[in-house]
Amino acid sequence: MLEPEVESRPWKEQQALDDARYRTQLAYLFERSAFYREKLAAAGFPSARAAGGLADIARLPLTEKREIRATCTPENPIGTHLCAPPAEIVRIYSTSGTTGSPSYIPLTAGDLDNWVTASARSYAASGIAAGRRIVSTYNAGPFVAGAALAAFDRIGLSHIPVGTGNTERLMLAIEQLRPEAAVLTPSYAAYLVDWAAERNFDLRGSSVERVLVAGEPGGGEPAFRANLEEGWGARVTEAMGIGDIGVSLWGECEEQDGMHLGARGFVHPELIEPETGVAVAMEDGAGGELVLTHLQHRAAPLLRFRTRDHVQVRTNPCRCGRTGPRVRCIGRTDDMLIVRGVNVFPSAVREVVSAFAPDVSGHVLVRPRAPGVKQEPPLPVRVELARGRAPDSALADAIRERLRNVLVIQTRVDLVPWGSLRRSEYKSKLVEHEERSPKDPYL
Ligand SMILES: [Zn+2]
Repeated sequence: MLEPEVESRPWKEQQALDDARYRTQLAYLFERSAFYREKLAAAGFPSARAAGGLADIARLPLTEKREIRATCTPENPIGTHLCAPPAEIVRIYSTSGTTGSPSYIPLTAGDLDNWVTASARSYAASGIAAGRRIVSTYNAGPFVAGAALAAFDRIGLSHIPVGTGNTERLMLAIEQLRPEAAVLTPSYAAYLVDWAAERNFDLRGSSVERVLVAGEPGGGEPAFRANLEEGWGARVTEAMGIGDIGVSLWGECEEQDGMHLGARGFVHPELIEPETGVAVAMEDGAGGELVLTHLQHRAAPLLRFRTRDHVQVRTNPCRCGRTGPRVRCIGRTDDMLIVRGVNVFPSAVREVVSAFAPDVSGHVLVRPRAPGVKQEPPLPVRVELARGRAPDSALADAIRERLRNVLVIQTRVDLVPWGSLRRSEYKSKLVEHEERSPKDPYL
């Protein structure tokens, strides 16, 4: 553990400390944040005192990303949740966003330091320790991933940045510099398994013993992970953050049983039902959308921010000694479909299908026929066959049957040849609505 006295602190003690920090953060918001002063007053909370402590947090309104964006103007392109004066802002990251214009994420020196601390705890949980070599494939650029890279310095690693989309250079660095660990998106990790197989590159025999995945859900799906571990001959652990709140807030330990909150003390986690916004207790086995609140942020703190990440919670003690709830991300709430009343995550479809390896490649594409979330069965699913495998109606039937038994949905399974679903060197798209690309046969 990077900071054993913090990471193994009894969770009750952590919550007591966090409650005091939260009350201070609320007072700061009422003093400095035009956005929250207005929002909380409109919800019936005219003061920090009225808003109470962490035990009362579910009474406060949730914050949606689009609300923040709606306050951006040419005079204030960051938004009215900005609290710190310009002289205190040391970094402004961007998120790409889906609407075209970026969202800006300002940080004070203290905020940035807290981000790096949290990220360092999360990555160190994987077992990688000072003095070891790690090769990274993230492009720092304007994006928050840059702050995660600073975490490697904090841990004391020997860091080899190769950036995104240069597979030849990455593999050369692995061969020549012999790093113990590689950090990449789960999609890229899977892409490299195929890449290596095509070129008889001995990825299994490489120096890499730990593969640290982050940036998208999937690294925790058991069958997908088993394929990665087999292909790399390495232990796979995952990390997860959300740009607006912090990088690599969560990181998995060597027990591989969900991610610990590396950002404990900086961020308070909650769960809600995504459809209703109703709070769900963070109990063992609970599932819901993750909602996060800054506890000691200065530049632009967020309160009850909807992450759109759907997680499952574990609270049984972890053998590593870290305390507090752990999470596994099962998908983005935005990707969730409702098939005749049943919630379905495309990542769950991939998980079920991946168990049919070595007959299938593990690549799937869900192709909803109707726009929006609600779908009528059968849900079309393209399943890519393993290399050299011919289509076979018995296999399609078996996959359809398994999807029906495990996920309780009716699907139409179309088997497609190896190589026909798009591979990603960054993040995979598991859902594509049919009407969006009528000309693309399989992409
Ligand atoms: Zn653990």
